[in-house]
Amino acid sequence: MQIPFHKPYITEDEVSEVLDTVRSGWLTMGPRTLQFEQEFSKYVGSPHAVAVNSGTSALHLALKAIDLKPGDEVIVPTMTFTATAEVVCYFNATPILVDIERDTHNMDVSLIEKTITPRTRAIIPVHYGGQPCDMDAIMEIARSRGLYVIEDAAHSLPAWYGEKSVGTIGDLTCFSFYATKPLAAGEGGMVTTENGDWAERIRVLRLHGISKDAWKRYSAGGSWYYEVTEVGYKYNMTDVQAALALSQLRKLDFMWERRKYITKMYSEGFSGSEAITTPTFRPDRVSSFHLYPIKINPDALTIDRAQFIEELGKRSIGTSVHFIPLHRHPFYRNRFSYDEKDFPEAEWVYERLISLPVYPGMSNREIEYVINSVNDISTKHKK
Ligand SMILES: *Cc1c(COP(=O)(O)O)cnc(C)c1O
Repeated sequence: MQIPFHKPYITEDEVSEVLDTVRSGWLTMGPRTLQFEQEFSKYVGSPHAVAVNSGTSALHLALKAIDLKPGDEVIVPTMTFTATAEVVCYFNATPILVDIERDTHNMDVSLIEKTITPRTRAIIPVHYGGQPCDMDAIMEIARSRGLYVIEDAAHSLPAWYGEKSVGTIGDLTCFSFYATKPLAAGEGGMVTTENGDWAERIRVLRLHGISKDAWKRYSAGGSWYYEVTEVGYKYNMTDVQAALALSQLRKLDFMWERRKYITKMYSEGFSGSEAITTPTFRPDRVSSFHLYPIKINPDALTIDRAQFIEELGKRSIGTSVHFIPLHRHPFYRNRFSYDEKDFPEAEWVYERLISLPVYPGMSNREIEYVINSVNDISTKHKK
């Protein structure tokens, strides 16, 4: 059996949507993108949704919307993908890394206050693996200290914090439609916000700073006239991407159910294992179940994490590690002098971390094979 780390759930629906779009002759941003924005906005329950070409672009434009300035500081968890912090660097601002909770791998909210300085402008919580952060606490700190909250929701579609859907909580929320994300369009991203002015600014910035959506220029009755009002970017989504995204959006609930089921099967399959810690899910929020990160217990095993991954590889099971903490990367370490000693929980987690495959198309036999393989490796290499 061959089980890759991820496989997007693509059916004939996607294929025919894409073909229809290609045949329509409208390839770049146009009616499909508009339709995707409208349906996405309805799905998460946010009044404004602006589509862009990646999750990274979404984060970049969210920071443009709040007018981040050189020298500003933005609080970011260390256990994330570089995109979350690199966008801060685009502004010559400083990402201030904070440590995480050992069980959920989300940012440790109790550490936020002491990192706030007069230069702090925003917090970017990352909903690790799709499980929302402590958003009540984060919003309360942000409101009392005058900070913006930009959620990195690259993993969390759909997800809920209490009754609230992710996409309706922070000032701005950024989603990713990268090939491995819960909604896969190859590449793509979305910003949701309640603030109509920000949404409009992001619409302008995503297409060269042009003061109205350029595609309207070419439509019937449209005018040839436009104005460039500021330096913008080429960050628009294309209608081919939007076609894929639209058909994925319609099966989001089904894909979520499948990931939830796989998560449940894994956690049952590893219960009682001394070698494996399964992910923790808090009762007051609902994860998208995007990742299934296990932590191996070095005290119970004769092999380390890298060897455990190798053993899974020998059994043709693809894995990943989410993430190599940012403070460990040469760029962040050298530029901002981060030190491993300042992130004890992320270090503890990182050393043990393995993400197992979780994708909607996994068969029950494949799920069982992963469970048996992990348990078999744990037994064979028991200390
Ligand atoms: C994937 C990812 C991003 C970036 O999304 P892209 O669409 O690949 O640009 C940002 N943050 C996190 C946590 C991610 O996993």
